[in-house]
Amino acid sequence: MSGKPFQPSWPTFAGPAEQTAEDAQKFLASIVEQSEDAIIGCTPDAIIVSWNRGAEKLFGYGSQEIIGKNLVVLATNKAAPLLRTAVERMKRGKAIFPFDGSGMTKDGRCIEISCSASPVKNADGTLMGVAAIIRDIGERKRAEEARALVAAVVEFSEEGIVAVSLDKKVLSWNRGAEAIYGFSAEEILGKPVFSTIIPPERQEEYDKSFARVVAGETLVRFESERRRNDGTRFDVALTYCPVKNQNGKVIGVSAIVRDITQAKATQQALNEANENYRALIHNIPDVIWMIDSNDQIKFLSPNTEELFGYSTAECYARGTSILFDSVHPDEAEQVLRSFQLFFDHGAPFDMEFRIRRKDGDWRWVRNRAIQTFEKDGLRYASGLITDITQRKVAEESLRESEQRYRLLFERNLAGVFRCSQVGSFLDCNDAGAKILGYDSREDLVGRSVMDVFFDLADKDASDQRMAQYGTASSQELSLRRKDGSSVWVMANTTMIPGATGTEIEGTFLDITLLKQAEEQMRMAKEAAESANRAKSEFLANMSHEIRTPMNGVIGMIDLALDTDLTSEQRDYLATVKSSAGALLEIINDILDFSKIEARKLELERVPFSVREVVKATVKEFSVQARNKQLSLQSDFSADLPDIAIGDPGRLRQILMNLVGNALKFTDQGEVMVRVIRLHDDILQFSVSDTGIGISPDKQKTIFEAFVQADTSSTRHYGGTGLGLAIVSQLVALMQGRIWLESKPGNGSTFYFTARFSLGIAVPIEDHTQHCEERAAVIPSRKLHILVADDNLVNLRLARSLLAKQGHSAVAVGSGREALAALEQQSFDLVLMDVQMPNMDGFEATKVIRAQERISQKHLPIVAMTAHAMSGDRERCLAAGMDSYVTKPVDAAKLFIAIKDALPKDSASNPSQSESTPLRAQAPHTIDLDH
Ligand code: ADP
Repeated sequence: MSGKPFQPSWPTFAGPAEQTAEDAQKFLASIVEQSEDAIIGCTPDAIIVSWNRGAEKLFGYGSQEIIGKNLVVLATNKAAPLLRTAVERMKRGKAIFPFDGSGMTKDGRCIEISCSASPVKNADGTLMGVAAIIRDIGERKRAEEARALVAAVVEFSEEGIVAVSLDKKVLSWNRGAEAIYGFSAEEILGKPVFSTIIPPERQEEYDKSFARVVAGETLVRFESERRRNDGTRFDVALTYCPVKNQNGKVIGVSAIVRDITQAKATQQALNEANENYRALIHNIPDVIWMIDSNDQIKFLSPNTEELFGYSTAECYARGTSILFDSVHPDEAEQVLRSFQLFFDHGAPFDMEFRIRRKDGDWRWVRNRAIQTFEKDGLRYASGLITDITQRKVAEESLRESEQRYRLLFERNLAGVFRCSQVGSFLDCNDAGAKILGYDSREDLVGRSVMDVFFDLADKDASDQRMAQYGTASSQELSLRRKDGSSVWVMANTTMIPGATGTEIEGTFLDITLLKQAEEQMRMAKEAAESANRAKSEFLANMSHEIRTPMNGVIGMIDLALDTDLTSEQRDYLATVKSSAGALLEIINDILDFSKIEARKLELERVPFSVREVVKATVKEFSVQARNKQLSLQSDFSADLPDIAIGDPGRLRQILMNLVGNALKFTDQGEVMVRVIRLHDDILQFSVSDTGIGISPDKQKTIFEAFVQADTSSTRHYGGTGLGLAIVSQLVALMQGRIWLESKPGNGSTFYFTARFSLGIAVPIEDHTQHCEERAAVIPSRKLHILVADDNLVNLRLARSLLAKQGHSAVAVGSGREALAALEQQSFDLVLMDVQMPNMDGFEATKVIRAQERISQKHLPIVAMTAHAMSGDRERCLAAGMDSYVTKPVDAAKLFIAIKDALPKDSASNPSQSESTPLRAQAPHTIDLDH
């Protein structure tokens, strides 16, 4: 090969028409020479013949070095076969289309190249050589790879990366954007952003920022709001950059979008947590502290100021000394020592001590350590300080009150004790020990409560009351003293929760003296009661003793009045009879009063007409009223029931008294008896008069026994002062009350109420009528009657009364004589006085009845008694008597009693065999005629 550079011909080059072919050749040669690409000319055997500057720059060989060498030197081992194949093609005159491969530089570097080659033929078409154009494509490839990398990064970025054209249409939309907005790239590419992802109210903001970016500004990380495909809003952080072309002209805007909803929520939560934490620190009443080994305060909660009086700033400035300098001198040393142990070795630190505030006040605090730790070569400790002043004050006052209680306990004059429920003394004061006869508190404590009880039933009763009510108060107990003697105490006990479980606490007082006084009083009361009973008995006996002779007096006067008398004698006897009657009335009053006092008066419960009782009373006084020219009326309310159940006799007695008084103390005008029904079973009676009236002070005492309104009235009007006392007691027995309204000179009204069973339809027994009827049916047959009475006058009277009715009588003076008489004679009936010497009526009756159990007969016996006390009738009937009559004997009542005692069919049938045995010998009887 010659050293002349190969001058290739450019058969297809068309130069300007006016230039010569030589100029064209030169021009072309300079283009080849100046080309950046390597243009290499080769022979058909690939021997390099021309080498331009581009080739020199690319491969590093100078043209002298390389011309004459095979082209293959420029190929890497890997590319050499490919090059040879290309050379073979070129030899066959075929063109080589551009292909990429690798070449080898002079200094052995491998470079990326793009190669194309064209055959160079002469005018006859003979292959003269090959022109190869080689271009360094390393730079381009790297740029392409870089671009691909960026595209991949963009595509797969989690952040949305979006490009928008100047007319705000979406140009690119990565997967991040798809995920954030919910639009796929296909859906959104080419569409205007504001119709899809910009919320309307953010439109303006968007336009402004867009304009700024278009003007060349980059907006880094600003927050806004965007809209997803599903319409939901979310917070975003955006970075907008202008997109420029090669000329630096802005052709669009790129946006990096980050969904910060979660981040915002997290931030929010964090902020809240911080806020809470701050509030917590502020609100914790305790002071929280943290210090380090440099004596610096690292943290102090704001309430420090409240506790110490120093502001937190002052504390921070003074360091840890502020915590220790303020400790009370008494405790300072120990606090410091313990704190040092805690700080250096982590020993527990929890102390209560006093600190002095800035203002000089002392406060009690509890300082507790929380932890110690090391960080960055420093040691830290933290803890809590609590203000416990109030608790300490409360503890102190509790201690003082306990002290006071203890003194109260110890100095109490009453015994104070506490014992366990199982029953041993846990505590006791000296007074208690002394009451129970022990030397001291120590002597009693520890003993069993059983030691002080005589009777365990007392303890059980007390325990039961406490179990039921929690306390047992005012218990009077007889307790055993240490020496075995007894002491009476008044105890109050309570169950309380105590250290040993439920405990019993109590106080007790020595009431032995009180008990003794009480016993004496009780005895005195009993004595008084028995004296009162004795008085009542005495009164009852007296009335018997007085009524019996009165019986005789009145009976005899009656008998005497039946005989032939001169008018003077008759007049005397009539006066005696009236005096005797008055005397009997007084005796009856005294008897009634004593019976009521002795609580021996019982009320009857029989059906009767109130109206009739009132009318009968009024009728009884009609003559007396007429004599005083007074009007005496009765009045009944319309709703007064016809029938009442109660005691008509006692009602009559009340009315007799009140109407009697009214007439007695009224000289002109009227007396009115009214009855109204108050309610249910209560009737109200009133007796009003137009008489002398009663002064107010006397009204108060008038119902007391033996009281008269005016002592002078006794002389004027007579009376015992017992009437109203009996009336008021009878009213009380009828469960009513009595009162009066009166003005001196203007008359009086006595009111009383009484309870009856009302409105029951029961036929009423008309006693008066009944008595008369029965008196009329006195046995027509003549009876032979034994009269037993120790009083001769009564015997005579009875016999006379019987004789008047045509009966025969035998009189005896005692029970024993009566039995003797019965053995000798047969009697139709016995009139038996109950009180007789030798053998009384009860006993005699019992003997008779005992004998009759063998004989199977029944002798009628009528009891006669002056005892009008309650229960007499029952006693007589229980003794076997058939009926009962009180003395002084009233003829009518006597015959009713005889009739009641006789067998029902014997009233009219004479019978000789009433009694046994038959008369055997002359009876030992009393001769009444002598
Ligand atoms: P006495 O049987 O003595 O009358 P009372 O107890 O019946 O006793 O009456 C006590 C006194 O009350 C009478 O003495 C009389 O002074 C006064 N007294 C009772 N009823 C009346 C009355 N209707 N008018 C005025 N004074 C009366």
